[in-house]
Parts: sequence; structure tokens; C-alpha cells
Amino acid sequence: MSLWYEEEWSGGTRFSVKIKEHLHSEQTPFQRLDVYESWDYGRFFSLDGYIMITDKDEFVYHDMIVHPAMAVKPDIKKVLVIGGGDGGTVRELLRYTTIEKIDMVEIDERVVRVCQEYFPVTACGLTDSRVNLMFADGLVFVRGAQEASYDLIIVDSTDPIGPGEGLFTEDFYRNCFRVLSADGILVNQNESPYYDHNRRELERAYKKIKAVFPIALAYQAHIPTYASGHWLFGFASKQRHPVEDVDMENWKKLGLETKYYNSSLHYGAFALPTFVKEYLK
Ligand code: SAM
Repeated sequence: MSLWYEEEWSGGTRFSVKIKEHLHSEQTPFQRLDVYESWDYGRFFSLDGYIMITDKDEFVYHDMIVHPAMAVKPDIKKVLVIGGGDGGTVRELLRYTTIEKIDMVEIDERVVRVCQEYFPVTACGLTDSRVNLMFADGLVFVRGAQEASYDLIIVDSTDPIGPGEGLFTEDFYRNCFRVLSADGILVNQNESPYYDHNRRELERAYKKIKAVFPIALAYQAHIPTYASGHWLFGFASKQRHPVEDVDMENWKKLGLETKYYNSSLHYGAFALPTFVKEYLK
């Protein structure tokens, strides 16, 4: 009798993955955390019943939440990562020797510890000397953070349910704006345009970000284990436009090997389907 992991993408759609083994399960102080071994995606973990990362496709998400901003603003030195408990975002950031400091504010220490145990490839950067790992609520952290203290903020959060809810509020975005330098950039995981509840979250978050940042766009990636596979990220900045102001030759000179992101995909990612552009109007 085969074992299947299943999650609900909408009232009428479910996503199932055939499992070899259910490796770990616990209720942390914040959420339900499960780790599985699967046939098609290797090892993966879920929080409150939603897949966070899989061995097979985490490179897509972590390439796309980091490299576009680094290509647009090559002089980024101080980064704040909110969430990101699996460490993949920090791993990609650490590939830039120009980055001097990464503060990572993750609300749930159990996510970090379990990922260090089960996903060493993804979590490998969390002990790097440039990384300052804090276990706190990102919303509270930005409220107390110094003005203009970061060049880049990456919100690598869960969906706006449970602990992640506060990271999709105007109060949170206003504080991110205050805490960013004059030429700062905010990148966030911004849900999906397909299923209704994801789309509503996308529209709500985008409207709030647009009310705070002069430049606010969305870009896309194809992540098979996220609802519909069509996933969006938010790119908000005070000065730089991600397509008009990117110096791709400069980024290419870094010679970074990336499995998903590349210099032409950067432009394509911001070329959204018409129906998505309609939602973001
Ligand atoms: N790639 C995943 C996705 O798109 O759903 C998210 C990766 S990471 C596992 C999400 C992290 O956000 C989790 O570890 C969760 O504990 C953390 N998180 C949720 N709410 C938070 C908050 N208010 N402050 C800091 N971290 C938070």
C-alpha cells in the first residue's frame, strides 16, 4: 500500500506526492513541521501542511528570491532576511563576496534546527561568519530596527496565515521602507495568480507595497511544488527599476553558476501574462 503526502491547493484541487518515508513530525511553538522522503522530489518539508522546499526544486525559489536584486544593485552590503528558516536564501546571498553582513530573523528555531539536520545542502550557510541568526518575529524586529540600516530586505516567509500574517501588512512594509537605505530594495515571496485565495493574497500584498514604494513590480518563476507552479515574487525599490536599471554585463562578469536564473531570464521573469498584469493594476 503506497503512502502519499497531500496538500490542498484550492477547494477543488489537491497536490499529492508519493512518499518513501515520513522522516519527522512535530508541533513547534508556531506551526506543524513535517519532513518526508519522496520518489519524485527527494526530501522535502512542509509547514502547516504546505510544502516549503524540496531537494529537487529549491534551487528555483532560492535563485529567484536572491539574484535579480543582486544584479540590479551590485553594491549591496547589508542584508536582512526575514523568515528563510531552511537557509537556502542565505546560501545564495553568501556567494556574493561584496555582502558584508546578513541578519536573518526567523521566528521558529525548530525550522532551522530540523533543516540543518535534514537539508544540509540548503542550510549550509547558516553558520557562516557573515550571518547573524536571530529567532524573533520579523514584524517586531523591523519596528525596532535602525533607519537606513540595510541595502536589501528579503521576506522569505510562509503564506499570510499563522506566524506569516504580520509580514503582509502595510505597517510592516512601511517599516521595511524606513529601515532600507536611500537606494534600498525589498524582495518578497508574493504568492501565485492562479487559485483564488493565493490571488487575493497576491493582490492585497501588492497593493500595500505599491502604496509604500515608488517602484513596485512582480516577477515570476516556475516552481512545480507550489500551488499551480506559477509563483510570483515582489520587487520593490526606492530608486532602481529592475529592468531599466540592471547592468547585466556586470552581473555576468561575476561568473556565478546558477541553475535557474540567468541574464536573459531576468528580463523574462518581469514579463508577466496579461491576466496577471490585470490583477496587479
Ligand atoms: N519558500 C517557502 C515559501 O515560499 O513558502 C518559505 C521558506 S521558509 C521555510 C518560511 C519561514 O518563514 C518559516 O521558517 C517560518 O517559520 C518563517 N516565518 C513565518 N512568520 C514569520 C515571522 N513573523 N517572522 C519571522 N519568520 C517567520
